[in-house]
Amino acid sequence: MRRNALLWLLALALVSYWATITGCGGCGKGKTSDRTKVAVSIFPIYDLVRQVAGPDADVELLLPPGHSEHTFDPTPKDVEEVAACKLAVMVGVGLDPWMEKLVKDAAPNARVLKVGERVPTLTVKDDPVGDEAAHRTIPEDDHDHDKGVTDPHVWMDPARARVMVKAIGDELGRVDVAHANEYRQRATELDGKLETLDKEIEQRTAAWKTKGFITFHGSFNYFADRYKLQILAVIEPFPGSTPTGEYIQEVLKVVADKKVPALFSEPQLDPRPAQTIADAAKIPLGKLDPVGGTEGTDSYEKLIRYNVDSLEKYLK
Ligand SMILES: [Zn+2]
Repeated sequence: MRRNALLWLLALALVSYWATITGCGGCGKGKTSDRTKVAVSIFPIYDLVRQVAGPDADVELLLPPGHSEHTFDPTPKDVEEVAACKLAVMVGVGLDPWMEKLVKDAAPNARVLKVGERVPTLTVKDDPVGDEAAHRTIPEDDHDHDKGVTDPHVWMDPARARVMVKAIGDELGRVDVAHANEYRQRATELDGKLETLDKEIEQRTAAWKTKGFITFHGSFNYFADRYKLQILAVIEPFPGSTPTGEYIQEVLKVVADKKVPALFSEPQLDPRPAQTIADAAKIPLGKLDPVGGTEGTDSYEKLIRYNVDSLEKYLK
């Protein structure tokens, strides 16, 4: 934020100026358009929104694929995109305050949908290692992954995603009444696809011999909750903060005690802590992806299936 703050403010000022001279705060790039614009914080939600929007609305993704979902510095172009949106869709529940702030400043009149507030939430576990140990190193500024706090990774459960899709269809119909029927219809179609996905994963996971696994950051609790799996430990309870030597020893103990077959890194975070532990335990390092948006994970369903495939390789 520090680095881009000046540019960001400049862009905001330009957008306001443009709105003043044209009398139009929501026309985007200076040409009048009746098309409904929607801005979305992270890829998995963006894909759900664009599937429901179909050809009737333009949907913009803010967080570029490959970046952690917990931090984001908006560019002047992002400010412009958000300023033009009629609907802003984010996860809420502590995941993407960066978008909340952006919308408040650049598009105060846009409708806001926080999909995380539409589903039952889980609390971040007190204990990222084993059943009794407590948190060791909680950075003071970490509010997303603190214990007793709502776990914001709600989209990782396809059953909850179905509830979000319904909310997305309803909200699109509110900001663009002319296409409300189309939005509702596409939301129903997507709901059917997610129901199929959910059933498929339920069957596949039920057949796995191993039900416990270790994740890199705390992004798979909703997935595990839905499919009766167990998160045995989290390597980086606070994304981006390197685990201490003592913490690594605790994770290694879980690996040995529970005969954990593999560890997983995540493409948005530095894989070295996971690699170090996997090397020490002489087990393979696979990959899990909570955000996606790149080749092989370029739709919500592909992203979820990618993770199921990754886990299945070692847990089946
Ligand atoms: Zn996360």
